[in-house]
Amino acid sequence: MRPALLDPLFASLDTLPGVGPKLGELFARLFGRESVEECRVLDLLFHAPHAIVDRRHQPGIANSPAGAIVTIKGRVDRHQPPPPGRASLPTRVFIQDETGELALTFFKVKGNWLEKSLPIDETVIVSGKVDWFNGRASMVHPDLMVLEADAASMAMVEPVYGLTAGLSQKVLRRTLEAALARLPALPEWQDDAFLRKQGFEPAREAFLALHAPRDATDIDPQAPARRRLAYDEFLAGQLSLSLVRQRLRAVPGTPVRGTGALTRPVLDALPFTLTGSQRQAVADVTADMAKDERMLRLLQGDVGSGKTAVALMAMLAAVEAGGQAALMAPTEILARQHHATLSRMAAPAGITIDILTGRTKSRERDAVLERIASGETQIVIGTHALFQDTVAYHRLLLAVVDEQHRFGVHQRLRLTAKGVSPHMLVMTATPIPRTLVLAAFGDMDVSKLTEKPAGRKPIQTVTLPTERIGEMVERLRAAIAEGKKIYWICPLVEESEESDLMSAEERFQTLVAALGPVAGLVHGRMAGAEKDAAMLAFKSGETRLLVATTVVEVGVDVPDATIMVIEHAERFGLAQLHQLRGRVGRGDAASSCILLYKGPLSQTAHARLSILRDTEDGFVIAEEDLKLRGEGELLGTRQSGTPGFRLASLEAHADLLETARKDAAYIIERDPDLTTPRGEALRTLLYLFRRDEAIRFLRAG
Ligand code: ADP
Ligand code: MG
Repeated sequence: MRPALLDPLFASLDTLPGVGPKLGELFARLFGRESVEECRVLDLLFHAPHAIVDRRHQPGIANSPAGAIVTIKGRVDRHQPPPPGRASLPTRVFIQDETGELALTFFKVKGNWLEKSLPIDETVIVSGKVDWFNGRASMVHPDLMVLEADAASMAMVEPVYGLTAGLSQKVLRRTLEAALARLPALPEWQDDAFLRKQGFEPAREAFLALHAPRDATDIDPQAPARRRLAYDEFLAGQLSLSLVRQRLRAVPGTPVRGTGALTRPVLDALPFTLTGSQRQAVADVTADMAKDERMLRLLQGDVGSGKTAVALMAMLAAVEAGGQAALMAPTEILARQHHATLSRMAAPAGITIDILTGRTKSRERDAVLERIASGETQIVIGTHALFQDTVAYHRLLLAVVDEQHRFGVHQRLRLTAKGVSPHMLVMTATPIPRTLVLAAFGDMDVSKLTEKPAGRKPIQTVTLPTERIGEMVERLRAAIAEGKKIYWICPLVEESEESDLMSAEERFQTLVAALGPVAGLVHGRMAGAEKDAAMLAFKSGETRLLVATTVVEVGVDVPDATIMVIEHAERFGLAQLHQLRGRVGRGDAASSCILLYKGPLSQTAHARLSILRDTEDGFVIAEEDLKLRGEGELLGTRQSGTPGFRLASLEAHADLLETARKDAAYIIERDPDLTTPRGEALRTLLYLFRRDEAIRFLRAG
């Protein structure tokens, strides 16, 4: 149960004064939620300012630079309302100091509030942006105006927050103040000595300081308050992962000892031999599975490095040991493709491989479920439907999760909660830098596929301005005549599926018009069967050019496709471009990738395209990507809604992550059920950062 002291922070945002339906909608938009009921007071506290307005600059009227924010102290000289009948003209109030005169300009003034707040002959303090016109200084709608007597109430440094259209700094700050007023004193969950050494304040003070910067240095990620909260967040994450892991480990796994009866014939029949790192990965996995501790291993390998074959060997070992294996893919297309490839590769083993996805029709579904329950199904491939409550496994020994970065922690937890305790192999195609692996998965054993399968030729990557699209289409015509296969990826338009779709359909039409009926189309809105048909037609060579949205991004495998065209490449992220490019260069023929861009390119877009042109090394690309964009995006959290980080930054706070990892391990060792006083406080921490899924695994929870 969540500690009651956090209740005020988990109240929905519209319980704050002044947050009605209209403002509520703006906040929902700001936090990317469906409605204000889904926004918590806490969300606002985590909304850190990214800049400050410094009102300490007081140069005097005559010395105020145009466009700068200044604070002026002066005497009110006169009010000049618009002439009768010209209400659209502004009211001007003139104030003077020893250096000159400033016209304060107000549009649409109602009532007499100006006379009240700026009485003639009073000394007032105003702050805002100064403009100069014909040697006269003016300030339109000052940000702040107070009488000299109230000067102390004026905030000379104000935080600046990210906004959404229609929401002002002023309203946001006011609401934030109300949110801060709800912040209770929090029990200390950090070690005293550590806090002293780092110079960290208590968590409540850190939140208050986060929203009351006094200087630009307070906005820096290295400001003590920010570091404290970042550490809290990392610790919450690491602790939660350790708890899950502890739980996974606590349930003994079933030792799996393969006999080779299935793997051997399958290996012999493969049209290739495994690379050294594939063999090593298979050895790691089979050694893990042979133990009675459950395996929890991450298989990292760049696109095209051959993770599927490793997974197959592991799954066959599970079957040899008399059990079942399941492979979960993130999308329908991928699940079907895996089913097709694996069935083909495993044919010599003569085993039953089924598929189960959200699209599996009820009658077929019942049959598959029955086969899974009876143990007749030895390997099952599917989407998250595999781990729905209706699926009862006969003897699941191994679960493989492909493209893990698309899944949240939740799916992994669900697997455990169902009472099955298979060994787990998690495969990821994005070569995640170590810091990210730690943050996202905690201490996992890792196998890496570092070699590319033999015979791969480098992919020649070029950039081309959109203006030269006609020229390129001509070259594609020649390529098609030579029997080549081409992917054509259409751009993301403002993250809206509908406009993506339009652009893909339009492009499809123009390409069919130019090249004839050699093109196919596949996008996310198509019915499943249509998608399959389009993929199949491309795979079989019936179509030669596949126009697609990013549905082909992950894992799609058509080895004889050798040309990848990415339209509006400047709109894609680096990791995504790398994934897309990885669809070609999978066979032994030379491949190329054409990045079509629309100039002028922003600096980052330029950097992205250059990196891609210069290297194919997924690890280099991932590191560069981490530098160029937020970590959340790299992990694909945008798509899946995986809880990312609110305040911690892997770039700025990498040192803290390492400490948090050790701290979490130490805590779990000493206090595995979080029952000591610090343990109790740590539970509060887990709730605060919404890492509390793990709490239900605690015995005393
Ligand atoms: P990914 O790691 O991206 O999932 P896949 O498992 O889809 O990669 O493999 C990419 C392609 O490489 C497939 O066509 C696969 O059959 C082939 N492949 C896998 N291992 C080897 C190997 N050792 N030698 C040659 N080709 C291989
Ligand atoms: Mg794959």
